[in-house]
Amino acid sequence: MSLPQHKTNEAAMTFSLPQLPYEKNALEPHISTQTFDFHYGKHHKAYVDKANDLVKGTALEGKPLEEAVVAAKKEGGPVFNNIGQIYNHNIFWLSMSPNGGGAPAGDLAEKINASFGSLDKFKEEFVAAGMGQFGSGWVWLVANGDKLEIAKTANAETPLTEGKQPLLVCDVWEHAYYLDYQNRRADFLKDFVDKLVNWEFAAEQLAKA
Ligand code: MN
Repeated sequence: MSLPQHKTNEAAMTFSLPQLPYEKNALEPHISTQTFDFHYGKHHKAYVDKANDLVKGTALEGKPLEEAVVAAKKEGGPVFNNIGQIYNHNIFWLSMSPNGGGAPAGDLAEKINASFGSLDKFKEEFVAAGMGQFGSGWVWLVANGDKLEIAKTANAETPLTEGKQPLLVCDVWEHAYYLDYQNRRADFLKDFVDKLVNWEFAAEQLAKA
């Protein structure tokens, strides 16, 4: 006889896959539905599932994500890699919008100009940093005290563990762009800063810094 199917109790899990803030086809033609099926539906989900397995019965079980990222950093290894990747992807989806691109406003615009000289200069430096990240990683706009900075991190690393507030991030792992751009990482980064970037989200993050 077969055992009854148990319903997965999502609430009991430490980490969960967040809902996308838009439909999977909303960023076409820049990012395809197929990329979302794999990147969000498989890669991001796998990090969530793996992290939940790894924290079972440990001090990290039940911790809020941001706290868990910082705590897991001391441990390193697969625990940090999977939790860091959940956090980084959560920020990445929010860093883009179907109405993205354009220019930031208010305090964020002033700080971009003060820190980089101009919006165009920021974009140039952001794309260059993404191109300069050898192998898998991330390129960020962060608030470090009063100043904004561009940061790049390898693998699952995140500026959050260095006390910096992430405002935006672009995923430069090949799985982020290969289906749509093949090896043209620069074109993906340019579309990110010109057409996809969600300045409203960045401004909300800045207000938290
Ligand atoms: Mn990714």
